[in-house]
Amino acid sequence: MSKKYVYLFSEGNANMRELLGGKGANLAEMTNIGLPVPQGFTITTEACTQYYEDGQKINDGIQAEIMEYITKLEGITGKKFGDLENPLLVSVRSGARASMPGMMDTILNLGLNEDVVDVLAKKSGNPRWAWDCYRRFIQMYSDVVMEVGKKYFEQLIDQMKEARGVTQDVELTADDLKELAGQFKAEYKSKIGADFPTDPKEQLMGAIKAVFRSWDNPRANVYRRDNDIPYSWGTAVNVQSMAFGNMGDDCGTGVAFTRNPATGEKKLFGEFLTNAQGEDVVAGIRTPMPISEMSEKFPEAFAQFEKVCKILEDHYHDMQDMEFTVENGKLYMLQTRNGKRTPAAALKIACDLVDGGMIDEKQAVAMIDPRTLDTLLHPQFDGEVLKKTPVIGSALAASPGAACGKVVFSAEDAKAWAERGEKVVLVRLETSPEDIEGMKAAQGILTVRGGMTSHAAVVARGMGKCCVSGCGAIKMDEENKQFELSGKTFHEGDWLSIDGSTGKIYDGAIPTVDASIGGEFGRVMGWADQYRRLKVRTNADTPHDAAQARKFGAEGIGLCRTEHMFFDADRIPAIRRMICSDTVEQREAALAVLEPMQQSDFEGIYEAMEGLPVTIRFLDPPLHEFVPTEEADIELLAKDMGKSVAEIKAIIAGLHEFNPMMGHRGCRLAVTYPEIAAMQTRAVIKAALNVQAKHPEWTMVPEIMIPLVGEVKELAYVKKVVVETADAIIKEAGSNMKYLVGTMIEIPRAALTADEIAKQADFFSFGTNDLTQMTFGFSRDDAGKFLDAYYDKKIYENDPFAKLDQTGVGKLVDMACKMGRATNPELHLGVCGEHGGDPSSVEFFHRTGLDYVSCSPFRVPIARLAAAQAAIKDEK
Ligand code: ADP
Ligand code: MG
Ligand code: MG
Repeated sequence: MSKKYVYLFSEGNANMRELLGGKGANLAEMTNIGLPVPQGFTITTEACTQYYEDGQKINDGIQAEIMEYITKLEGITGKKFGDLENPLLVSVRSGARASMPGMMDTILNLGLNEDVVDVLAKKSGNPRWAWDCYRRFIQMYSDVVMEVGKKYFEQLIDQMKEARGVTQDVELTADDLKELAGQFKAEYKSKIGADFPTDPKEQLMGAIKAVFRSWDNPRANVYRRDNDIPYSWGTAVNVQSMAFGNMGDDCGTGVAFTRNPATGEKKLFGEFLTNAQGEDVVAGIRTPMPISEMSEKFPEAFAQFEKVCKILEDHYHDMQDMEFTVENGKLYMLQTRNGKRTPAAALKIACDLVDGGMIDEKQAVAMIDPRTLDTLLHPQFDGEVLKKTPVIGSALAASPGAACGKVVFSAEDAKAWAERGEKVVLVRLETSPEDIEGMKAAQGILTVRGGMTSHAAVVARGMGKCCVSGCGAIKMDEENKQFELSGKTFHEGDWLSIDGSTGKIYDGAIPTVDASIGGEFGRVMGWADQYRRLKVRTNADTPHDAAQARKFGAEGIGLCRTEHMFFDADRIPAIRRMICSDTVEQREAALAVLEPMQQSDFEGIYEAMEGLPVTIRFLDPPLHEFVPTEEADIELLAKDMGKSVAEIKAIIAGLHEFNPMMGHRGCRLAVTYPEIAAMQTRAVIKAALNVQAKHPEWTMVPEIMIPLVGEVKELAYVKKVVVETADAIIKEAGSNMKYLVGTMIEIPRAALTADEIAKQADFFSFGTNDLTQMTFGFSRDDAGKFLDAYYDKKIYENDPFAKLDQTGVGKLVDMACKMGRATNPELHLGVCGEHGGDPSSVEFFHRTGLDYVSCSPFRVPIARLAAAQAAIKDEK
């Protein structure tokens, strides 16, 4: 039997998300549970994949199947496509498996042409409505299918409004709209060079193709990359008969959430616009009314809607985000999905659902997106300064958090400024999907138009980014990059602070303070900790970072980089003397100066970690990173060492390397200068002994990590230095303290010979940054230059430095674990690369059987939650 590519809503259900997309599966589910849904059908994601396989064509078989379902839909609705008696109008809507807000485009009122409009106008006695539908259709079809560009049509509307002396679209009459439709078609012809299509079937296939095509547009590709959505999934297309919210004042359209998506409060939240259609509510063209007002204007439809909300929440066990339309007082449901929410709301809702007995703790842990948590950990405005700073404006608190930055006026500028390290606040009339990268780069977003469900608000909440929207008091002049608020003109580059939790706008920069884990956050993290098997450590080089990470729940340090301690002003002279020494004695003298400093650093870190394990990595970077480059510094060093400037310069020149990342670094330093490893060992062991003496209740087991090993004999050589030094000190102290010596696995050869290396190592810590770099053969610092081309050409979907390449690098990790454990069953395994805080990578590390992941302090809660989710997923 040939594959079925099309399903009626009544043939699907919520579990068919992979095939029908999220929107289609939920339209089917709502149909099944008896909610009022305009009927239609879904063309599957497999049809999308097939479209690409067929060279961006909808093949004849699928076209025929679609037309067969149009006939079925005609039977269900009693209307006919393109008919002059009782015409069927449909919407064509995209819908991927995971919702991608604002990414894909929708076309409404498809099936219209001049003849059909005339029939509708006459039969309904509502020509204004008929012509409004038609002009909308031409506009959307031209934009989405033919890519003519919205702005030309918007200009024509603006001109028409000006000519008629009105400000709102709804004030335009039937004749105005008819005239507009004519102008639109002329515009279309001038841009495309052909007449606007009149055949509904041609329109339909064009629209479906456009949806398929939109799966591959640059915005969608960026969104997918940010949200871990594979390109291979494809999008489904929904063809649905129209419900009309634009037939008059007893009609309208709305968007609502069953709970407040910003705070999680259990109260219906949303907006409604009378005599409107589709995206009018979110586009910010008119300011909608809050949903509560709907109860007065449409009491019956509202009562019905409240019932539907309850049914849907009880059915899905989660907060719902819904789209609906009221046609002549009757309610139609057009979409439902688990609503996007702020991280704070996500935690509150999860707790409330558990308390309400709707879900259990495990489900609560599983429903929170770990990637969004870090915004909760990020700074808020300093309350004291805030009190003293005058508020210059106030608008909708669209997405919480505090943002402070320099004003920019376009997404491109936001991106460019952020790339050079500036903090920016993006100020826009309104945002559109093209702005997404700029929104990402900005600290926060401020818009002049648009409500709580505007594009800017929805996208910002999804990103966990601060957003204040709908500040109508702003007089915007985008062209000249300036705006006026509260009598002051702001130019590009001026400082501005906005608070997405209160909606307040402040003139100037307000410093921020750190947040902490408490309340619902703490509760959910507590649940998560019960389920996870992976331990979570942190990468920290200072007592301050270590203490921060402890607060976030770190269970140890997986990577403490010792070289960061060498750059301090009081230490750098000693390290430079060490590097420029001619003899071992000279070098040891310089190291002797450093030793007590290192020791006290380690003591501080041990104290901060309160007896938890701490892995200290020995000196790693190439030495030339430490030598002076300024003439004055070189002279100083020469004087210090009793050498000539020329001699010092010669030494520095001698340190030059063609490829420093693959040069004289890591354990190679300890092989050439074992006295460095000896000094670091003394500092580690003495610090641990001191801290142990002060805190007899802790069991100190220092962990020494030798970096960049590629050959077991290398490790054996350095380990011998470490062990001889450590044992002597421990013996002298009369202690029986244990310590571990392990290595980083960051060179492919180490992974390939892990069985040998494991015989010499107490632990492996996968340094997945270098391992990725060396496995791919390109560096993290240079990859930015060409990775975009690789994304565009679908060679890579993700940055392998952010998300572990499970196929290649992951294979090395997996293999090294297995081989290492085979020769050393006691081997302890962890990861300390950036990937330790990336949820999908954490899931991989769980499956691979590592003992812990280690990540930066702010990502510790993310890793804890991701580890719990991996364990929960594993159970199933
Ligand atoms: P998005 O995913 O961007 O929200 P949708 O496909 O949901 O796109 O549609 C955009 C807008 O058009 C929504 O407001 C939706 O409610 C409205 N819409 C879609 N189909 C219909 C229909 N058949 N009748 C009335 N309104 C519709
Ligand atoms: Mg849309
Ligand atoms: Mg929608």
